[in-house]
Amino acid sequence: MTVDTLRADRLGAWGAVRDTSPVLDALAAEGMRFAAAQVQWPKTGPSFASMFTATYPKDNGIARHVGIPLPCAFRTLAEELSALGYQTEAVVANGAVGREFNFDQGFDGYLETWKIDEDPGLNRWQRARRDPNRAGRVTDLALEVAGRLDRDRPFFLWVHYLDPHAPYEPPRSHRDLFQGDAYFDPIPRVSIDSRRSRREIGAIGKADAVDGREELAFYLARYDAEIRYTDEEIGRLLTGLAELGLARDRLTVFTSDHGESLGEHNYFFGHGRLAFQTCLHVPLLFHWPGALAPGVDEDPVELIDLAPTLLEIAGQDLAAGRWAQGRSRVARLRGRGAGSEDARAFSEAGYAQHGKWIRALRERRMKLVYSPHPKDQQLIGGEGVAFALYDLEADPAESVNLAAERPEELARLKRELWTWDRAPRFDAETDTASCGEGRPVDRDTEELLRSLGYL
Ligand SMILES: [Zn+2]
Repeated sequence: MTVDTLRADRLGAWGAVRDTSPVLDALAAEGMRFAAAQVQWPKTGPSFASMFTATYPKDNGIARHVGIPLPCAFRTLAEELSALGYQTEAVVANGAVGREFNFDQGFDGYLETWKIDEDPGLNRWQRARRDPNRAGRVTDLALEVAGRLDRDRPFFLWVHYLDPHAPYEPPRSHRDLFQGDAYFDPIPRVSIDSRRSRREIGAIGKADAVDGREELAFYLARYDAEIRYTDEEIGRLLTGLAELGLARDRLTVFTSDHGESLGEHNYFFGHGRLAFQTCLHVPLLFHWPGALAPGVDEDPVELIDLAPTLLEIAGQDLAAGRWAQGRSRVARLRGRGAGSEDARAFSEAGYAQHGKWIRALRERRMKLVYSPHPKDQQLIGGEGVAFALYDLEADPAESVNLAAERPEELARLKRELWTWDRAPRFDAETDTASCGEGRPVDRDTEELLRSLGYL
């Protein structure tokens, strides 16, 4: 299960103060929770491309933009599981992972919520009031798919929820859940740019403003309400799967494709532009009662390790525990191997003007951000400042650049980052199966991407 745009620190198990995630918290308490999981690019398409192929954006070519198809040359997790005899099914609610972009590689069935007419009987007005991509619908479709699975063969079911993605419009039942509660601080304001319809840096556009509201807390409460609604729907999915007899011997993995900047660093209700932890740090948990003991792993881990980990569990022979650029984390899942030297995470981000995008290296405590483009520098360390060094323990908000103060630490992390960046490019084994590169983009997909602010 993946939930779009879900930053780790808004979930109870990862330290949120509000009761946003009772279902996921219970799952985390019974499973192995990764406290410091990190995405490779904080935008839907590139993040899932990395996750499912276990390759870095700099090497798989899917950087920044939505709409770059996942090249057929890369093997995906679903392709590998399918080859191992698994039934592979997906229900997805975000057009950025539509079939047009080849994210269906390896799946026997691939349901895209926005392309399925839920009720031909609805009139235009009724249709406009319903969100075909809402979590309730994703759960319904996932349970339908699960009900049709062959019980004699193993299955891989990917369910992707979209709700916490902007605009923050939870269903009526949840809309005001956290408004005005004990954690609602009415003081901080959001500027609304009355001349532009969309904006993320320094202010929000007039189209992004809800009812003209200017309190930051109003938007935070709505974002949290989206999470709570999704959490309840995940609960309904898990209950439904149990009723179908699909609870036993099931490994459940939960994560997100990226977080969300909720006003930190003057960046509002967006992701992808910068490489702060608000957008890079995501929840990751493995729940498998009887096979995995409950625990918490505090070390950094990259989402490109997810596919190799699942493949090893599924019985694939991995050379030295590696698959593509990722590595199996089965040892850490079993509570061993924590504290190892490679507890670090590389990420990329930005608008990638002229190929100059942001690179970041996060260790347990220190983090280095390299911004080659002057426009990014203005938003991070200041113009002309290409390197920002943060102490995540002392300064979790990443507000104090220690680069000048700690030259040795800076030099060491720079060397690590260059070694990674200049490592020989990963070459995908040529996958001969064609996945139809360059498929035309469906009109419904284009409409959905526009409403999400991608286009
Ligand atoms: Zn996303």
